[in-house]
Amino acid sequence: MPYLIVSDIHGNYEALEAVLEDSRGRYDSILCLGDLVGYGADPNTVTEWAKSNVTSVIRGNHDRACTGTDLLDYFNPAARASAFWTRGALTPGNWNYLEHLARGPLRVTPDSSSDGFDLVHGSPLDEDEYLVGADDVQFLGEYLDTKLTFFGHTHLQGGFLLTPRSVKRFMPDRVLQLEPDYYYLINPGSVGQPRDGDPRAAYALYSPENRTIEYGRVPYDIGKAAAKILKAELPESLAMRLFEGI
Ligand code: ZN
Repeated sequence: MPYLIVSDIHGNYEALEAVLEDSRGRYDSILCLGDLVGYGADPNTVTEWAKSNVTSVIRGNHDRACTGTDLLDYFNPAARASAFWTRGALTPGNWNYLEHLARGPLRVTPDSSSDGFDLVHGSPLDEDEYLVGADDVQFLGEYLDTKLTFFGHTHLQGGFLLTPRSVKRFMPDRVLQLEPDYYYLINPGSVGQPRDGDPRAAYALYSPENRTIEYGRVPYDIGKAAAKILKAELPESLAMRLFEGI
């Protein structure tokens, strides 16, 4: 029962479409790690898609900010402007859906023969925490009660391997074989606003049967997504950064 795992779509429907096309036929269900909206110009289309296609989804900080359930104190001016714009754009039904998304960690149990795994937005302990370097993960080991956790929020594809003695950050390799004795934190990367210098939309496929993670990257029509952001009069920087993947 392979899963398509997506995160940080951020209202970018062009990027989402490319991911779905690229991964077509290779999964049974879709899991999402939050931040469906914010930054991009298609919050309603992306939310409608999630409603009817995603099996399990948790909330991200932008989903909270765009539905008024969070203060915008920690948002930079462009993020704040896009949160206000998104509040104005969301239909009442989509607002309601985003407002009631579950808070992570959310346990997913594939079937009786496979171990469960967790979905979180930031970190297993704090949905708003950024796990960027090994230092951020060092003390998490004792709090993990699943060997596999998927996280987003940093928009950086890759992950961390935790052994009893060390934490190792790794960059996405095409296919990662999970070792049974170790703990893993896996970031599928961001669909709609990658920040690792590679502007292509990012995702991951997870096969519990084979114990493999496959990282995917796919080009999409950035020009179209950027033009929609400009037409919506969202901050110009939100359009420009898509071309750079920053
Ligand atoms: Zn995000």
